[in-house]
Amino acid sequence: MTASRTMKTLLIQNQFFLVPELQHEFSRLIFSPQFHSEGQRQFFERRFHELQKWSPALEWKPGTNPEEADLVLAWDAFEERRRFGSKIYGHQNRLFSAADASTLPFPVPEGFTPFREKAERQLPALFPDARLPIDTEVTQALRSYFWDKKLASTYFETRNQLTGPDFSTKFSVYLSCGALDVKHLYNEVRRFEEAFGANKSTTWIIYELLWREYFYWHYQKHQSAYFSENGLKGPKDFSPVKAYSLTELRELKAHPFFHAALQELTTTGFLSNRARQMFASVWLNDLGLSWRSGARLFEEHLIDYDVYSNFGNWMYLAGVGVDPRGKRYFDIDKQLRTYDPEGRYLRAFTGEISP
Ligand SMILES: Cc1cc2nc3c(=O)[nH]c(=O)nc-3n(C[C@H](O)[C@H](O)[C@H](O)COP(=O)(O)OP(=O)(O)OC[C@H]3O[C@@H](n4cnc5c(N)ncnc54)[C@H](O)[C@@H]3O)c2cc1C
Repeated sequence: MTASRTMKTLLIQNQFFLVPELQHEFSRLIFSPQFHSEGQRQFFERRFHELQKWSPALEWKPGTNPEEADLVLAWDAFEERRRFGSKIYGHQNRLFSAADASTLPFPVPEGFTPFREKAERQLPALFPDARLPIDTEVTQALRSYFWDKKLASTYFETRNQLTGPDFSTKFSVYLSCGALDVKHLYNEVRRFEEAFGANKSTTWIIYELLWREYFYWHYQKHQSAYFSENGLKGPKDFSPVKAYSLTELRELKAHPFFHAALQELTTTGFLSNRARQMFASVWLNDLGLSWRSGARLFEEHLIDYDVYSNFGNWMYLAGVGVDPRGKRYFDIDKQLRTYDPEGRYLRAFTGEISP
């Protein structure tokens, strides 16, 4: 990143880790995160206070028009959504660093399993070029997850739970904004294996990181098909999708789980992977809504929003993506009995008891 000294105003929507590097290049530093829920606002405020330790001149000004800035640090967004063109610095944060699908060390297959097998063979024992996290919140989260609580040993058994602080890694937020280099996270898993032994749980964390990687490369291959209603399964259809207001969504007649998940999503900006899948199943199968409007809702609210993982997963669940099995259906009552037998989830987000 070479910022010219003629630049005056840097506007930061995310890409926090670059702020210390760039602060001397600009006369004005504005932190203008985009948040859509109270949970997201609190997250960004915490980030702001962290960043201020590095850059005391940083200003908190949500809602600032990016047109006022000389450089905008924003999401690692795809071409169609680069509203501010060359001003945006999109940081690549993947296990395989290359510009497009044709430069990956192997051709991108259609299915995840062959991708995983090919990728596994290419992965080094450690990535020597991993970037260290620059802020203490990420370092502390890594230390707590791997070294204090040793949760990487039990990830496989807990990963499908719906609520709680420790059932999954919760690193997606840091990965998606670039505060945590996925190569560094990969190295931590390998170091943990070195210290405590590899098992199904440690292997599964790597597999999940490969899912993330897979959607990125699969997108590089298929590009705008990711935003077509027919996905990979038909002619391109970019017709506008409805953006539902929260009032409209709250009035929908749906399983109480749907309303609980909506509440969690819009107040915290997070849903577990299991809850994302169950929510998408209600959205697609019970309510019969467009997968793209679901992806749009997630895009607006998820604190770990990542365009490739979000659209890739929605497409997959809608049966127009990489899964040859077609649309995925989840029996919500059965899922709740399996993954939330004590009914904590519904109680926490709607006050109702699980069936
Ligand atoms: C409909 C839907 C939308 C999603 N949208 C996003 C999104 O916008 N951003 C996002 O980061 N993830 C998304 N995911 C993937 C997954 O739900 C989240 O990455 C995960 O829940 C984040 O929590 P964690 O960090 O504790 O995950 P963990 O279970 O601890 O997994 C470790 C890491 O592996 C990666 N990962 C795990 N599961 C997946 C997956 N299914 N696809 C791709 N990567 C995965 C993530 O980087 C995650 O941080 C979506 C999944 C679904 C079903």
